[in-house]
This record gives sequence, structure tokens and C-alpha cells, in this order.
Amino acid sequence: MSFTASSSEDLEAGTTWFSPEEQDLELFCRSVPKVELHIHLDGCFDPQDLWAYLQLNPHLLQCFPVEKKLPWEKKDAPAARIQDSVAKCSTALDYRRLCTCRRRYRRLRHGQEPRRSMQRVKGSLEDMLLCFEFFTPLVYDNFALLEHLACDFVRRQYEQNVIYSEVRYSPQLLASDPRLAHAAITKGLRRGCQEFPNVIVNQLLCGINFCPQWAPDVVNMAIEFRDDFPCAVVGIDVAAGEDHFHPESPFHKDHFAMCQKAAQHGIPITLHAGEVPESMDNVPKAILKYGAKRIGHGYAVVRDLETMELIKAKQIHFEACPSSSVETGGWIKTDWKDHPANVLRSNAIKVSLSSDDPAVFNTSLTWQWRIALKKMGWNKDDVLQVLQDSIDASFAPESQKEKVRNRLQQEYNSRNERSGRLMEVNYPDFRDRVHYDS
Ligand SMILES: [Zn+2]
Repeated sequence: MSFTASSSEDLEAGTTWFSPEEQDLELFCRSVPKVELHIHLDGCFDPQDLWAYLQLNPHLLQCFPVEKKLPWEKKDAPAARIQDSVAKCSTALDYRRLCTCRRRYRRLRHGQEPRRSMQRVKGSLEDMLLCFEFFTPLVYDNFALLEHLACDFVRRQYEQNVIYSEVRYSPQLLASDPRLAHAAITKGLRRGCQEFPNVIVNQLLCGINFCPQWAPDVVNMAIEFRDDFPCAVVGIDVAAGEDHFHPESPFHKDHFAMCQKAAQHGIPITLHAGEVPESMDNVPKAILKYGAKRIGHGYAVVRDLETMELIKAKQIHFEACPSSSVETGGWIKTDWKDHPANVLRSNAIKVSLSSDDPAVFNTSLTWQWRIALKKMGWNKDDVLQVLQDSIDASFAPESQKEKVRNRLQQEYNSRNERSGRLMEVNYPDFRDRVHYDS
């Protein structure tokens, strides 16, 4: 499949963000070899690419449902109008606004005119999940497109010098036959890794909170494809809400059984838990009952010293996603220095930084490092420490971890020698797909 979206709307990132005196930080963010453990493949689909594809195949507008009842909405809530909203888009930018979880465009996704003012509304996980309804129907059962997008994911990582990634997705959400979705995605990822041989990618398969019927096959597929390197499945997750943690929830039994089976087979588990303030109790459940070795988000635990002690004792790693935490309402933003990732670190809990859904949040992994360095008070040594902790916490086999560690060390040494400073050389192919429209 060959089509390329125009990149004219992609601005050079970071030019106005760091002051002229801080340009070494910008160069550091660009060039430091990165590791990303929490990134959803479907949250990376480039809306400009999808728009270009839709323009070439206008009949595919029909694949969007006219209306969709959203599983997380109350029974009497009106259905979301999907096809109409896509049909109303006349430019790539319109479509991007629809697919991107920017709070000021929330009204657009609900069939209303966007706010004229800059006034922001509080973000929510549900509003973020609604974004996916405007592009997943286009890719569903479209294996050539899935392969293209998986390959493009590897390019996105290469462009930011992300040397190791664990990319997660629900194969059941992307195709009627999840094995065909997995095959197309694996093909695309492998093609990308061939084209960009310095990038290592493994996969995590996600159960979806409100689709418990998929859970048994998620773990079966993880067992089936665990040794299928390159780009093997190295773990499982449950995404899109945390209701399944409650024993009385209809979503509980199957997801719990899925994790038990994974543990029996030695499949590592990371779970979305404690993402929003009212979900604090889910983190100890994820660790003690479900056997999670890593926690996606987990911001809620910073109010609970006892759980933080447990996390420390069990050496559980936290996958922090700063932009995502603000956009979903997971962290009510005060001073970036008080971000839960900092509270966890000050309690000797190891964290990594990830972008979660960069296309949906209109951000990038590089942008997360900018936030950490400029706003969260991290220094370059913190970055290197967190990268090393991320490699340790990854579900990659030891041989791959060693390769990634060596690569980090090598780039660190060679750039250090050339510039005389700590990795302040521009990464030559750097590109940040963050779009500035406000
Ligand atoms: Zn996530």
C-alpha cells in the first residue's frame, strides 16, 4: 500500500518551547535513545494518513456506523453520531480534530460546534475513548491498511530514536478474526523493523474491559505467539476501563481467569489500574490478585502510603504517561512538579515515561521528555536512570535487553565524545508528529 499524507502541517516541534538558553535540552530530548513501554497501536494511527486514505477510498465512509451506543454511557444517553461527524469534515485538520482528544474539540465529537474560546473542559477517559470511534471502523478488517499502519508505527518510533517499544492493542477490536489482525500487524511491524534495523519492537495483547468475551482468546493468542520473534507477544494487559476489577462486575470473571491462565504459563502481565482518582483500590488488586508486574498509570496510589510500601516491596514498575494523565482527568493538574510520577520516584518506586496514545492526545514520546525536563524538574541523569529502569522492567528476553542497554550506552558515549556534552547532538532524522493548531 503506498500513500503518504502531506506533512506540511507538521511543524518543527520544540522551537518555541525551550528558551534559546535551553536548546541543549531540546537537542537532548531529540537525540537520547528512548524506551517506550506503554503505547497503544490504535492510538498511534496518524489521522492525516487515515484522512488521505479516506480521500482515495471515499466509499469507505459507509463503514462508519450512523449511530453508536457507547458501552460506558448510561442506557438513556443519546447514541453518538459517527458517520455524520466524519462526513462533515472537509479537511485533514477537521478530521484530526475529531480523532484527537483535545478538550476544546469535545463538542465537535458530540455533534456540536467547537468552542470558540480557549476555555477548557475537564478531560475524561470516556471522552478519550470516544475518539477511537471515528477511525477504528476504517481499519476494521482492512488488513492491508493495518499492515501499513503497523509499519508506520515503527517509522514513528525511529523518527524519535525510540530504540525499544512494547506496543499494545486488542486484535479483537481490529478484526472479526483476531489472528488475521495479529498477522497483518506483525507483518507491518517486521517490515518496519527491517527498514529501521535499530528499532526493536515487541507486542502486548490487550483485553478490553467491557468485552469480557474476548479475554480467553487474548491469553490463548499470547501463549501461541510468545516465542514468535521478531516482534513477538511478550505480555498481556486489560485496557479501556477498570470495572473488571470489581468481583460483582459482569466484566470480572473472564479477565481474572485470563490473568490466572497467563500467570500459569509465565506470560507477564501489565494492567491499566489506578488511572483515575476513584480507582485507587485497583492497584493492590492488580498486584496481589492478578499478578501484574507493571501498572499502567496508577496515579491514584500516591494518596495511599500503604499501597506505595507494597509497590516498593514487590518492585512493581509504573508506566507514567504525563500528557495522558491530564487529558483523561487521571491527574488534576496543579504544578507539574507534583505529578504522581514524581511522588512515586521520591518514594523509590521505578517509573517509565510513555505517550499512551500519541495520535489521540496529539503528543509524542519526545514531548513527554520535554515535560519531564522543563516542568517536572528532572535532569539528564534522571532521564538516563529512568531509561535504564525501563529496560529492566520491559518484558523483552534478556538477550534483547542487553542489546538495548548496550545501544543506550554506546550512543551515550559516542555523542558525549563528539559534543563534549551530554547528548546534545541533533538526531538527524528527528520528526515529531505533534500538530500545533491552537
Ligand atoms: Zn493506556
